[in-house]
Amino acid sequence: MIPVGILGATGMVGQRFVQLLENHPWFEVKHVIASPASAGKSYKDAVAGRWHMPKDMPEDVKDLIVRPVDDVKGAGKNCRFVFSALDSDIAKDWEEKYAEAGIPVVSNSSAHRHTDDVPMLIPEINHNHTDMIPIQKKNRGWQGFIVVKPNCSLQSYMTPLFALHRKFQLKKAVITTMQSVSGAGHPGVSSFDIIDNIIPYISGEELKSEVEPKKILGRIEGSKFVHDNSFEISAHCNRVGTVDGHMACVSVEFETRPEREEILKIWKEFRSLPQQLKLPSAPEQPIIYREEENRPQTRLDRDAGKGMAVTVGRLRECNVLQWRFAGLSHNTIRGAAGGGILNAELLKAKGYLN
Ligand code: NAP
Repeated sequence: MIPVGILGATGMVGQRFVQLLENHPWFEVKHVIASPASAGKSYKDAVAGRWHMPKDMPEDVKDLIVRPVDDVKGAGKNCRFVFSALDSDIAKDWEEKYAEAGIPVVSNSSAHRHTDDVPMLIPEINHNHTDMIPIQKKNRGWQGFIVVKPNCSLQSYMTPLFALHRKFQLKKAVITTMQSVSGAGHPGVSSFDIIDNIIPYISGEELKSEVEPKKILGRIEGSKFVHDNSFEISAHCNRVGTVDGHMACVSVEFETRPEREEILKIWKEFRSLPQQLKLPSAPEQPIIYREEENRPQTRLDRDAGKGMAVTVGRLRECNVLQWRFAGLSHNTIRGAAGGGILNAELLKAKGYLN
């Protein structure tokens, strides 16, 4: 078993890491890190009254003592790599310090998503972007490295778009998201603000939705990533009063117009390296198409493929662009901790965590 640490282990995403890593066949949580307010307490005391996961806290983690983030040496002794679910404000510097100290960082925070030599991975899409890791280590003189995953809402549409982009070349998309409250962490949006309400603003989210896909579909040139600027996305991001699961309504146009049957066949048959390698967290079917006219629905479909699949539905012609559909994914599983764990599994399978 590979011993792992979690930076930000007490937060919404950190708790999801703890829950998903229970009984993981490769990784075992040995080190938990959080803010000075939590440091020094047992994990169970640090999250007392704010454990949000649907299953009880794993026994193995309850008595781990929460460490302060500046105990980089301690992390180096206790674990081979760390997952990061730190607040983005502090993640940048600390993730760099861990990587510098020789501890690979598999991050969920947005801090390094736009760093030129940091891969932003969705393993079904750009698994070859791990080729940047040796370049990043050389650029920085680090023994460790940083990889990140993209913003949580992207997972609801990026894989379905990518599956089609490979054949038809994405040209433009207009995307409206309806994002759950867990996406804002805990306590996040106050109940008074979100019950009986939709908030048409999530700070920074629209820019992330428009720019991150260009890096994900981009390429390595020399010592940095170059964006794919051959397409444009216009995003509207809304916070809605659901607990988990981000829904996206997508209108899209490709250079070559696909036929409906082609789209459905491509989505149904889409598989990639995580499925070929049988990575433990890879969903058998990454894209699930629901034929019912009223699916996907957040409550009914967010847990598809153990929360790692994307559920799409309502494929129909668009009067303005070519096609439109709805996509849904679980924001704290595929969109956060589960996506981070799949990244780590890919890295292990490729020998980067030895
Ligand atoms: P959260 O619930 O607010 O948790 C933040 C975590 O950071 C907690 O463990 C907190 O520890 C820790 N922390 C805060 N200040 C610290 C400090 N000075 N030193 C060390 N640790 C500190 O936030 P979240 O929703 O889990 O999000 C975590 C990260 O994941 C963010 O960067 C976010 O953008 C990203 N993300 C979130 C989602 C989602 O759906 N929620 C999806 C994708 C990515 P204490 O508990 O001790 O305060």
